[in-house]
Amino acid sequence: MPRSLVRRVSDRYIAGTTIADAVRVVRELNAAEKMATLDVLGEEATSRRETLEIVRAYHDVFEAIEREGLDSNVSIKLTALGLNLAYELCRANLFKVVRHAAESGNFVRIDMEDSTTTSDTLELYRELRGEGHDNVGIVLQAALRRSIRDIHALQPLRPNVRLVKGIYLEPPLIAFQGFEEIQESFVRCLRELHQAGSYVAIATHDEHLLTEGKRLVAERGLTPEQYEFQMLLGVRELAANRLVRDGHRLRIYVPFGEHWYQYSLRRLQENPKIAGYVASDTMSRLFGADGRR
Ligand SMILES: Cc1cc2nc3c(=O)[nH]c(=O)nc-3n(C[C@H](O)[C@H](O)[C@H](O)COP(=O)(O)OP(=O)(O)OC[C@H]3O[C@@H](n4cnc5c(N)ncnc54)[C@H](O)[C@@H]3O)c2cc1C
Repeated sequence: MPRSLVRRVSDRYIAGTTIADAVRVVRELNAAEKMATLDVLGEEATSRRETLEIVRAYHDVFEAIEREGLDSNVSIKLTALGLNLAYELCRANLFKVVRHAAESGNFVRIDMEDSTTTSDTLELYRELRGEGHDNVGIVLQAALRRSIRDIHALQPLRPNVRLVKGIYLEPPLIAFQGFEEIQESFVRCLRELHQAGSYVAIATHDEHLLTEGKRLVAERGLTPEQYEFQMLLGVRELAANRLVRDGHRLRIYVPFGEHWYQYSLRRLQENPKIAGYVASDTMSRLFGADGRR
């Protein structure tokens, strides 16, 4: 796919290539009372050297957040830290990033990738918590059948969880396939996480799940500091503004970096639905339809 086309598709969803771009976007979000989580774009690492570059890049991000006084934490992918090269390498890198974060009072969200990485990701999270690192959270995917069991198994840790539907295409044996089935699982997981006393980041743009999320936090009597909503940069901005206006805390996922092309292409290949979103979004912009934005 031509770079120019991919760039056009991804432009709204990526802050830019440099840390200065990321700082500018986060500053704008903060001014609009939105928090951020910065993601340094990195594809699956193929060498130890690449993983060290990512560790370094996150170090620079923590420095920038502190220096600029930004309201942002970070999100990180374990394959960029070498999960598919060697567990021990990834472990060492992840501990470094989490320690850097702690030095400036920051927080690391470990993104969840495809199902081949789920068990190792959760194991690394347990290891971190086992060694007293509390400035770290995970992501659970409602599409995966195992997530409800993972919630029960993790309960003693009261994990800080970002709950998502799950972006990866997974087989029926391990993942719900139907739209409504996944919505039901999302609500079930959210209830169980609340039951477990977890802090939950409700990460969705789905109108039904936004409504359910708001209903469940109200039902439990949670104050705005006890949960947050999360959305992706450039997606459903009107709905995002509504959440903020209604007094909910909202964090925006802000990817940036040199690897925007590989990142965007992979997302498009992994889930062609994204291309559909972009197309329908462009159409509604062209024809002025508000739709569900
Ligand atoms: C902050 C955040 C972090 C995430 N982290 C992870 C993760 O670590 N692992 C993981 O597997 N998944 C992650 N996801 C992706 C998630 O799993 C879903 O694939 C994605 O959010 C779409 O599901 P939805 O709940 O928004 O509902 P959908 O029904 O898919 O989307 C609702 C509407 O939102 C709009 N929309 C949704 N996504 C996009 C998009 N990408 N571009 C343009 N429009 C869009 C469309 O208008 C769509 O109709 C994350 C999502 C968010 C918001």
